[in-house]
Amino acid sequence: MITHTGLRSRILLTVGASTAAIMMFLSWGMLYSWRNSLLTEERATIQAISGAFSVAVIDALIFADQDLYQAEGFLDNYVAMFMAQNPRLTAITVLDQTGRTTARSWDSGEAPWVSGPATRVLADETVRTTVTARTDGRWVMETVYPLRTGHRSWGALILQIEAESIRAQIRRNFVLLALFTSAVTSLLLLLLWFLLGRLLSSLQVLVTAMDSVDFQPTSGPALPARQDEIGILYRHFQRMQERVDQSHREMLRAEHQMLHAERLAAIGRLASGLAHEINNPINGVRNCIYAIRRDPQNAEQTATYLDLMDEGLTNASGVLHKLLGFARKQQAAPGPIDLNEAVRAVERLVKFDLERQQIRLELALTDSLPPVVADRQLMQEVIMNLLLNARDAVESGGLIRVTSRHAAGQVSVAVEDSGDGIDAGILDRVFDPFFTTKKTGEGTGLGLSICLNIVQAAGGTLEVASSPGAGATFTIKLPASPSGIPQEDTT
Ligand code: ADP
Repeated sequence: MITHTGLRSRILLTVGASTAAIMMFLSWGMLYSWRNSLLTEERATIQAISGAFSVAVIDALIFADQDLYQAEGFLDNYVAMFMAQNPRLTAITVLDQTGRTTARSWDSGEAPWVSGPATRVLADETVRTTVTARTDGRWVMETVYPLRTGHRSWGALILQIEAESIRAQIRRNFVLLALFTSAVTSLLLLLLWFLLGRLLSSLQVLVTAMDSVDFQPTSGPALPARQDEIGILYRHFQRMQERVDQSHREMLRAEHQMLHAERLAAIGRLASGLAHEINNPINGVRNCIYAIRRDPQNAEQTATYLDLMDEGLTNASGVLHKLLGFARKQQAAPGPIDLNEAVRAVERLVKFDLERQQIRLELALTDSLPPVVADRQLMQEVIMNLLLNARDAVESGGLIRVTSRHAAGQVSVAVEDSGDGIDAGILDRVFDPFFTTKKTGEGTGLGLSICLNIVQAAGGTLEVASSPGAGATFTIKLPASPSGIPQEDTT
């Protein structure tokens, strides 16, 4: 299941945060350069006004110095006139060379300028403009204009204009830009939200298709044809599904062939016992034929020998029939089967061989065993493999016991032998494909791994228990079929 919100919110968070950061950076840059150009413009204006006003002030100071007229009264009038002409001017102060205020626009009281004490103001040799807040909290732009003619200083002119309107303008633009940034970011996020929703729902269809792959080429919901990356992904997924289907079919074929090969190998392992079982009746028949030829007139003897020949040939054909039945290639067809019956069918095949090697085979089968759902022939193959392994493990005179039980809803068949057992070091490897301790030509190492596959495919387990020297027990456990009559084992 795709976690829509997880992926979507992660992308939205990343894109949202980076867009907001970029927008903020750009807005701040724009605002900063716009503020600088506004201040430069204002600064140029106030400096131009100061320059123009300073000419008249210097003239008045020169006249006053030469006692041509009273500079103070004249200058005060001039300052008042100038103030009236420039409504943005908030204060004008004229300092003489000693730092005394010779003319001003403001009434008595505290000097309104903000550029520092008179001595500091007089020390300036160039025009200086500052923007700062006054003690009353209002912002002003102030220019200190040195009044000089050649090397002589006549004092300084301090002009102040209000900067509140500039500040308000800057603040307004800041708010506008902030609003613009958040609007653009929100719009972008909204767009992204919808696009991601569509993208993720397409992915969801793909994920559902992937989830429902059951090796059927036509299985799973189809995605409407589309030309984007999702469409390409879907087409690749379909191709992959086809390849998986094909390799699955090939795997099944190979598995089937391997099963058949292992079955033939098992027959090979039985060959000498079976050959003996077929040879015996043939020799018996041959002896009967000789006897009949020697005395063809003896009708009674002929009748007896013919009966013996018939019995011998029936036995031989019975052995061959069972052998062919086991070797025949068949499709797996699971159905309710009786495991006791499977054990008995295998016993008929292996008993000649075990008898020849003087190995005792004991069957301790629980009666009325409930059926299990499995393929009859495959189950016989599993039991056959376990019996042949047990035969290989025990010496002549040894014992193999096959026990069947029913307990806790499960039917089990245990093949126990009196052989040397399995070393603890290799116990967990015996089910590995191609693991064998037998000589080349005697073992393929596939038997137990195939048995395990067959039992697991039928929903059961195959377990081994052994300690060296104490023989080995392989136990098949399969769920009892519900259609069977459950009957607890009390033995
Ligand atoms: P193979 O019989 O061809 O070697 P299997 O997969 O049937 O292949 O068995 C793997 C190995 O497990 C055997 O080679 C043997 O070492 C061990 N094994 C299986 N059954 C027994 C047993 N009953 N007693 C001792 N060892 C066993």
